[in-house]
Amino acid sequence: MSVEDFSSFREQTLQKNGIKHLESGIFYGKFVEPSGKEKYTSVSPVDGHSNADFSLADRNEYDNAVRYLDSAFEKWNEITPPKRGDIIRAIGDSLKRNKTNLGALVSLEAGKTIAEGEGEIQEMIDIAYFASGLSRQLYGLTMTSERKDHRLMEIWNPIGTIGVISAFNFPSAVWSWNAFIAAVCGDTVLWKPSTKGGLVSIGVMKIISETLREMDAPQIFALVNGKGSEVGDWMAEDSRLKLISFTGSTATGKCVNQKVSERLGRTILELGGNNCAIVSRHANMEIALKGVAFGALATTGQRCTSTRRVVVDQAIYDEFLKRLKDIYENVPVGNPRQEGILVGPLIDANAVRKHTEALKTAKEQGGKIIVPGEPIKVKGLENGFYVRPALVEAKPDMEITRIETFAPILYVFKYSTLEEAINIHNSVPQGLSSSIFTENLREEEQFLSYAGSDCGIVNVNTSTAGAEIGGAFGGEKDTGSGRESGSDAWKLYMRRQTVTVNYGKDIPLSQGVRFDI
Ligand code: NAD
Repeated sequence: MSVEDFSSFREQTLQKNGIKHLESGIFYGKFVEPSGKEKYTSVSPVDGHSNADFSLADRNEYDNAVRYLDSAFEKWNEITPPKRGDIIRAIGDSLKRNKTNLGALVSLEAGKTIAEGEGEIQEMIDIAYFASGLSRQLYGLTMTSERKDHRLMEIWNPIGTIGVISAFNFPSAVWSWNAFIAAVCGDTVLWKPSTKGGLVSIGVMKIISETLREMDAPQIFALVNGKGSEVGDWMAEDSRLKLISFTGSTATGKCVNQKVSERLGRTILELGGNNCAIVSRHANMEIALKGVAFGALATTGQRCTSTRRVVVDQAIYDEFLKRLKDIYENVPVGNPRQEGILVGPLIDANAVRKHTEALKTAKEQGGKIIVPGEPIKVKGLENGFYVRPALVEAKPDMEITRIETFAPILYVFKYSTLEEAINIHNSVPQGLSSSIFTENLREEEQFLSYAGSDCGIVNVNTSTAGAEIGGAFGGEKDTGSGRESGSDAWKLYMRRQTVTVNYGKDIPLSQGVRFDI
């Protein structure tokens, strides 16, 4: 694709998503007209040129958005959960109709390949349909009571307006994991995306708000694009937001956590990962190679679940490394809109710098560079942010391997016993996703046991990356706490009430306590 071709792709994508050259980054009830105040210029990592500008929220607009959602909450809760589910299903249908256009917008702004850009939107569609079904399944338990003619049970009520702060690398999918589940639970949702994903948030909000309008439903989602140090901070400190679901780096997540805890608010923290795959001599080599390559290379190593470390059994080490090297040397890197390209650009120049610096440090700390992973210029897209993926033979005591570098660098380790492999695997501060490639039942079970992976997500014979929405997603240790998306993660968006009903003619007390007056 030439420079001109990409420029016309940009214009078409903006136009098909209804995005003007100066957009409003703020929505509550309707998009707030951008005034001459602070704005952000969205730059495509694909060619380094600007896409469009959008406005950033000031304190007044932020407060208006929260107030707007608080009143929408009342209206939203006049609608029963299954009817709310119908509305969220209609949002899923609208996203399905707009999947190609929105997927292209994800490619333009985040640099994802065609398949991954559309995959991002598919994930939103999947969670919308999941949430719709869930709307009839917000079950509470009933328990037997020790008191005669008493009923003991749990009920679940919505918590109010919640805040979602999202990261650049999943500019809309992770928001929808939170937002659609929270919505069927009865909550309203304030969204602060990463400014690097601002246009996607605007494109998504245009479609969703239009669907809510057509369904005659309240506008339960608000958007406040803004700086993390301003809007993000206001959200963390704002006790009107009962829950803050934060996705981003561990360093920022720790600050957010401190502020929300200070006011005894709830958090879901989805922070950095440093994910590892173990490849045993009992693995199917083809599956292991494909699983590790996908995990490490997809989204140019910019997934929270990207495989950053691989620990390989000494019995197959040489063969595995040779074949992995071959994959790394030949994987097509370039314009993510071109068919066949598997690795697109990094998000910006800063990410290229961090990639290069990490490799320099790895070498200084004793790593052996197998595939160098240098920055490259892609023909016609010379201002884009491209690097070749890097492969480094490493030792577990190398400090750089304990840090999440958000770039396509894979550290390779050798092991002789499974215990040693698991030790290497668990030796980092993060605890998001993990994999073992083996067809040996005992090895698999050991990895799944208390003595195995210490992560929130554990995979057998599949990649650390590429989770489905049906399971609860989240990590341990420095990856934070909490789960979102599927399974029973919905409980975090509701408050549990334990109810005791006395339908008898007396008032017996629990534990046989007597209180005779
Ligand atoms: P980041 O921490 O730089 O930013 C994340 C969000 O926090 C952005 O919206 C940003 O504007 C906001 N922010 C910045 N300063 C803030 C502050 N002081 N208070 C409140 N909010 C603030 O992360 P990023 O570079 O956008 O994303 C990459 C990181 O996110 C990686 O570490 C990756 O592993 C992590 N991530 C984790 C998951 C997960 O589910 N565990 C998913 C995606 C990304």
